[in-house]
Amino acid sequence: MKKVVYYGIRDIRVEEAPEVNPGKDEVKIKIKYCGICGSDLHEYLHGLFPESPFGHEACGEIVALGEGVKDFAVGESICSVVPGSFAEYINCPRERVLKIPAEMDWKRAAVVEPLSGAAYALERAQIKGNETVLIAGCGTVGLMLLLGLKSMGVKTVYMTDLLDYRRQKAQELGAKMTWNPLETKTSVKIKELTSGTGADVAIEAVGIEETLKDCLSSVKFGGKVIVQGIFTKRALVHMLGFVTRETTMIGTNSINPKLALSWLKSGNIQPESIVTRIISLEKIKEEGFEVLAAKNKEDIKILVAP
Ligand SMILES: [Zn+2]
Repeated sequence: MKKVVYYGIRDIRVEEAPEVNPGKDEVKIKIKYCGICGSDLHEYLHGLFPESPFGHEACGEIVALGEGVKDFAVGESICSVVPGSFAEYINCPRERVLKIPAEMDWKRAAVVEPLSGAAYALERAQIKGNETVLIAGCGTVGLMLLLGLKSMGVKTVYMTDLLDYRRQKAQELGAKMTWNPLETKTSVKIKELTSGTGADVAIEAVGIEETLKDCLSSVKFGGKVIVQGIFTKRALVHMLGFVTRETTMIGTNSINPKLALSWLKSGNIQPESIVTRIISLEKIKEEGFEVLAAKNKEDIKILVAP
């Protein structure tokens, strides 16, 4: 079978690897799609994380069961979050595999994992449904948060991004208003939109100092800042406002696939609309990572079809 092997920064190769039978408590999956995550792109451009999640947004069909697996069957559709899924097959521990309805569209199944990150983040934020929320960043993370908020009944979501086509996507998916933070000062705009109060919740979905500052300066007294962006550089923030305005700041990096799946089943969100391209495994470098790295094409989520 073919799989992608990570050698180093901007050096990934498609190689032939032996097909292995699933071990105890594992299921073998034939991968239909595996999405390229923002974290994968970071690893491609800057180096591996200590516990690399390279290639973890997968969906596919079970083709074999390991010893002791009773709750799954061959032929079932699943999504999984196991790294190493830029491959034709993968063996996954059964607890990291989630059944999906057989009739669910594969593109929809492929974005369960990114939606799961939003589900976890919004659960941590203890969203009630009547909040005014700012999301800094209209990439996959920001857009999934927007859809999650929509599922939770939140109507007022403002979003920022430098790229026009991403902001447009956010508007299409239900953001109340979006702007380019280089053209419009976010904290001023938010104050204007909230009669001087500030947003209840601001979510950082980029991973840079500027957007973190925007979030901190846009929340109301006693407001919450959720940080989900992946930071590769240090952020220098003035903590005085954080203290005097009694802000709560929460970091989030885990997933809640069950909640994400329940949002998908309820049916009024279309996270698959962020999929802008489906490519073959062989083209993962040129048509996947390099395209996302260049940021000049109108791509948001790219799926790899092994
Ligand atoms: Zn991911």
